[in-house]
Amino acid sequence: MSQPLPATAQELGLVACHGCKLVCDAPAIRCPRCGARLHYRKPASMSRTLALLCAAVMLYLPANLLPVMRSSQFGQASENTIIGGVLAFWHAGEFGIALVIFLASVAIPCAKFLTLGWLLWCVHRGHQIGRRQRTQLYRAIEFIGYWSMLDVLVVGLVCALVRFNLLGSVEPRSGIVFFGVVVILTMLSASSFDPRLIWDDPKHD
Ligand SMILES: [Zn+2]
Repeated sequence: MSQPLPATAQELGLVACHGCKLVCDAPAIRCPRCGARLHYRKPASMSRTLALLCAAVMLYLPANLLPVMRSSQFGQASENTIIGGVLAFWHAGEFGIALVIFLASVAIPCAKFLTLGWLLWCVHRGHQIGRRQRTQLYRAIEFIGYWSMLDVLVVGLVCALVRFNLLGSVEPRSGIVFFGVVVILTMLSASSFDPRLIWDDPKHD
């Protein structure tokens, strides 16, 4: 990183339209081509990302504490939380399903919370080291976002399997609604974050 970097659009008095990507002169308020409002950075990016992240983390508690499905097998009914479901599948020898649910419902959401929190904290503190790695982390979070509904789909899949009497009988429960909301809030939080903030000079904020 010893090579000097070229000037940013902001330093050159230019701003890219969020809608059509047209490069406009900074004093313009609206894009002359598509009419979208022009901003150097996503407006209130930090506070929106933080608010959505906090909401997601708070709702992650009921998502884990409330049952996500009710299963009955051999005449015995039980309501399972996500972790309970993972353990139940594991003990039943369904290691693949247990692993997929654990990754999609526990490991990946927690990794996303921690990463987004860390990105926010680094921008807030004006850290200049590891910018490239943090940008790559953000891209990874964005990529995972496309697959975030996987956990909800897994429950759907399990319910479908059960309908065909492969695993007994299962019905979805309220925890899965919280889980879906957590997934959506985390995606919105990630999309509210402007990765260009990672590269901004903290003195300009
Ligand atoms: Zn435009």
